[in-house]
Amino acid sequence: VAARVLFEFDDSFARELPGLCVPWTAAPVPAPELLVLNEELAMELGSGPDALREPAGVALLVGSGVPDGVSPVAQAYAGHQFGSYVPRLGDGRALLIGELVDSRGQRRDLHLKGSGRTPFARGGDGKAAVGPMLREYLMGEAMHALGIPTTRGLAVVATGEEVVRERRLPGAVLARVAASHLRVGTFQYAAASGGPALVQKLADYAIARHHPEAAGAQNPYLELYRRVVDVQAALVARWMLVGFVHGVMNTDNMTISGETIDYGPCAFMDAFSPATVFSSIDHGGRYAFGNQPRIAQWNLARLGETLLPLIDESTDAAVEAATDAVNSFAERYDRYAADGMAAKLGLDAADGQLTQDLLALLNAQQVDFTRFFRALSSHLRARPEPVRALFAEPEAFDAWAGRWQALLPPDRAAAAASMDRVNPAYIPRNHRVEEALAAATDGDMGPFVRLVEVLARPFVERPGLEGYREPAPMGSVPHVTYC
Ligand code: AMP
Ligand code: MG
Ligand code: MG
Repeated sequence: VAARVLFEFDDSFARELPGLCVPWTAAPVPAPELLVLNEELAMELGSGPDALREPAGVALLVGSGVPDGVSPVAQAYAGHQFGSYVPRLGDGRALLIGELVDSRGQRRDLHLKGSGRTPFARGGDGKAAVGPMLREYLMGEAMHALGIPTTRGLAVVATGEEVVRERRLPGAVLARVAASHLRVGTFQYAAASGGPALVQKLADYAIARHHPEAAGAQNPYLELYRRVVDVQAALVARWMLVGFVHGVMNTDNMTISGETIDYGPCAFMDAFSPATVFSSIDHGGRYAFGNQPRIAQWNLARLGETLLPLIDESTDAAVEAATDAVNSFAERYDRYAADGMAAKLGLDAADGQLTQDLLALLNAQQVDFTRFFRALSSHLRARPEPVRALFAEPEAFDAWAGRWQALLPPDRAAAAASMDRVNPAYIPRNHRVEEALAAATDGDMGPFVRLVEVLARPFVERPGLEGYREPAPMGSVPHVTYC
């Protein structure tokens, strides 16, 4: 009952697209215990955090107590996983509780992960462990603080149940908030299961919810496609500018809204290398750091295929228009990446050769990506040593720095300050994340809470936090992620 006061839910997705979801109920949770609550996000969604801490609030956050009239659904989607098409994936262990309109008037999904088996569970147990759910919460908050579009964790609730993975682990449910859960894979499922009529309903829904300007275009579906290409080009450029490796860029993990989704095996790169892979299952390096833009474009081509019948009744004309749109990804991506790199370097405009030479240098000398950019501004404050010290052979850097300095605007202090606003001091360092999750799994939330606090203000250097800035010590075991 309290939950009804907490939130006013709507169910536009389930109402308008019943063919793309199944009404379903969350599994009972024996002993729910709230591990973390995102108070800022709760307020944004129109609820006092105190109400969410009460039993009725916690029951909503695990799905065992939803308000009257709210009926959660498991959403259907298909997807290319590592390049192979799977016609029926869907929410195997997740539920869409409903939609909320936030304080800025934006419609957002409240969704649970780890809430029990659904008709899409296949062989899975429908559950999730505390570590990976806290990991998704933490990575999402870190990305949000970096200004990168992302789904966000509202809460993680321990269930009091054990889940069986490589060992027995405490179970948890993540409550997640997203602009929507429409994915490239949702369109693939609609195309395969309902044909162009269902894709059209889905596309109309996506236009109204995410890209309303497309409705007035001469060809709204082509315009929708262009806009998704654009938001994804912008998103992946943002990832590349902070060294983020998503790790599982399957088409079911790519949104129509342009938000980052599904923090499974993701991690931030330390030393710059395009070949960086963390996921234990990505043997071929398909989703390596440097491959991300081209994989995004490949995924968008799969989206385009589903839209062809809507774009033009002549297949040739539709293919030509969609091909042009997907090919524009490269240009759009290059522009976003170049603008972002210019900002990182304190320049008014990017210089392609300068960037390329810098990245080659970082790669050759295995320089930490985040530390390099953060330290670079000190060069403009007459302290070149912190950045030079990151290079085993600083002479090569000096030569590059001379070229860079020649391109800088005259106000060096302003350039340095603006660099510090886009080059984070703090990112989720892998060993710090692991340490926090291991402690949380053993019942100590302290390190997790502190890490979330540090990452909430990534651009503001604070005394005493040096230990959060450094990569794992040389010689430690390479970081591996499991999803
Ligand atoms: P992901 O790799 O996280 O994008 O998940 C791919 C698919 O596997 C989705 O359909 C998930 O719902 C499903 N899935 C992952 N873990 C489980 C689980 N423990 N139980 C049921 N389904 C799962
Ligand atoms: Mg997924
Ligand atoms: Mg996942």
